[in-house]
Amino acid sequence: MTVARTYLDHNASVPLSAEARAAMTAALDAGGNPSSVHAEGRAARGIIEAAREQVARLVNAKPSEVVFTSGATEANSWVMGGGWQAICVAGIEHDSVLAPARESGAKVIDLPVHATGVVDVAGSADQIAQAAPGTGRTLVSLMLANNETGVIQPVAEAAARAHEHGAVLHVDAVQAPGRIAVDFAALGADLLALSAHKMGGPRGVGALIIRDGTVLPAFVKGGGQERRRRGGTENVAGIAGFGAAAAAIARDKDVAERLAKLRTRLEDGVRRTTPGAVIVGADAERLANTSCIALPGKAAETLVIKLDLAGVAVSAGAACSSGKVGASHVLEAMGMPAEITRSAIRVSLGPHTSETDIAAFLAVWEKIAGDAALAA
Ligand code: PMP
Repeated sequence: MTVARTYLDHNASVPLSAEARAAMTAALDAGGNPSSVHAEGRAARGIIEAAREQVARLVNAKPSEVVFTSGATEANSWVMGGGWQAICVAGIEHDSVLAPARESGAKVIDLPVHATGVVDVAGSADQIAQAAPGTGRTLVSLMLANNETGVIQPVAEAAARAHEHGAVLHVDAVQAPGRIAVDFAALGADLLALSAHKMGGPRGVGALIIRDGTVLPAFVKGGGQERRRRGGTENVAGIAGFGAAAAAIARDKDVAERLAKLRTRLEDGVRRTTPGAVIVGADAERLANTSCIALPGKAAETLVIKLDLAGVAVSAGAACSSGKVGASHVLEAMGMPAEITRSAIRVSLGPHTSETDIAAFLAVWEKIAGDAALAA
């Protein structure tokens, strides 16, 4: 007997939207090499440039500022390897920021995090000022919303502080599109990473938005593509799908309201059935689709496996890379005790999540949460 599936892991990947699928299918057969001058080449080039405009429009950037990459891991890695003297970054960032920052050779400065999950930007001012004064090669990196807790970060404030001290501001905005508005110009960011598959586009494509005038060495040399910043024949179908997904989510205006109602239902149900559960980040402003639920005394991996066997897909912490076991580094950076960092699961809703999905989750949750075999 097959178990009906309930997918509640949209922060890991959002299913491909119908618009993205149609654009990709059309692009697979369109034209030739986008760098060729003939009609076939120009057809492929046209698809890429149309998608560039769609992505630029989604985040209020100029098309010339959009550089397509293989995803946000690549975009973040590119930025961290940009020849900085110092990188100011908090422990709540995604591994695709933290790991390359640590390996970059730059001095890494650890920014403080409030217990709510919000980075203490005001308390970071001295650290930013003293990072690498006068070099113009200090990077401050702050995500727009955290992938595990959904907590929204004060990016505009960080941009102002960074610029006061001649530093450059990078934003990992991967989790924001389709959940909150992203305005590259209003945020005052210099660099901003996006990933198509977190907004209904295909996996394996993303973008780095680079403000005109920001100094960042080319990522892939040896090809003239992406204005000499990222060489190699472009992923035309992937880029077409990204553009279509970006345009589609920009049209869905009331998604946050819908998601917030569903999440309230989810969290009320969890509190009712398991009064000992802790909703992590609930005291901060959060993305409406994300719920990080810790059940002290239970092991997160076991909860995830039990939910999966009962037909519900969620994740333990970030779990974007397979086989991740153990404590969440994000919750640790928030100063949470081990009984919470080891027992937190992430439930993340998407544009097609329904009340039936929430009810299905709660029915399974009630059954498994009391199970003695789940002890951490
Ligand atoms: N940053 C954040 C906050 C993410 O959640 C993810 C995806 N897990 C990434 C970066 C990496 O994105 P991609 O899958 O496109 O490499």
